[in-house]
Amino acid sequence: MELSRSLAPERADFLRRLQNGTCSHGFIVEGPKGSGKREFALWCASALLCQSENKPCGLCRSCRMVQGGHHPDVHFYGEGDKAISVDEVRGLIKETGWIPTDGEKNVFILANAQRMQPPAQNALLKVFEEPPAGVVIFLLTDSRRSLLPTVRSRGQTVRLSPMEPKALEARLKLMFPRVSHEELAAAVTYSRGSLGEAEAFLKRDAVMRRENAKEWLSVALDGDKYRLIGLLTASKHKRDTLLPLLDAFLQLLSDLLLVKSGGKAVLLTDEDLEFYGARATKRVIAAMCDVTVNCRESLESNGNVTAVMTRLATGLWSAANERA
Ligand SMILES: [Zn+2]
Repeated sequence: MELSRSLAPERADFLRRLQNGTCSHGFIVEGPKGSGKREFALWCASALLCQSENKPCGLCRSCRMVQGGHHPDVHFYGEGDKAISVDEVRGLIKETGWIPTDGEKNVFILANAQRMQPPAQNALLKVFEEPPAGVVIFLLTDSRRSLLPTVRSRGQTVRLSPMEPKALEARLKLMFPRVSHEELAAAVTYSRGSLGEAEAFLKRDAVMRRENAKEWLSVALDGDKYRLIGLLTASKHKRDTLLPLLDAFLQLLSDLLLVKSGGKAVLLTDEDLEFYGARATKRVIAAMCDVTVNCRESLESNGNVTAVMTRLATGLWSAANERA
């Protein structure tokens, strides 16, 4: 039991029940996006299927297959964009009758259970309450309220909270070994404990967009109008890549506004703050926000890309040069 002392409480509880034979066969894993619901279910599946004494060892063939998402006895549903349908539930019920290929258990992980319509939930009810021997079902949902009361009452609920900043940072460090300390810290603050959000924040295209946004702001504040127009109307920019880029720019501006109003920066480094902070007043930034929001709307409602981006460039330039 030495191991479980260092485990998150919900994992320690699962192990305890597994060891004394009181483990439930139906779980409702509830938590906000990015709180690690799938990871928790996979960890439990490892514990259920592990071939070593110290379960889950994380090292045996079975554990590795589970973590890699290709253990033949771990079945996934609902991971795409569509809700799990009644037909899929019927298929699932059939699968619960199969003899496990590799271990002694069949584990079913149903992602996005909050999207399941009542008929699909009803179809699942019986097998969720009383699955065949050796079957364990995990329903992952961002809110258990989205499940029918009859489903809710038949499973053991495990609530996952957003991750602690330190734990999140450590996890991200492993996932993104090349990302700078500043970016990691920004991801932790920005995501408010959601691993999924933090991951999206650190993906390469998101990083690129922030770099782009910073360049726009620097050029706007430096006062070179024609360079700014050239930058914003560059031919590489297309409508669908510009929208997220404008969002990144708006994020940057709101971060700057936050600092100007006495808050703490999320995205900006000390160096950035020194540079932008000295060049832009709160009024300038607010005016830049207005023109950006306005142009973003035009772009979204199909305005001509070059015309809108030229308007944005001149608008930003005018906002920046009113500072005197
Ligand atoms: Zn193992």
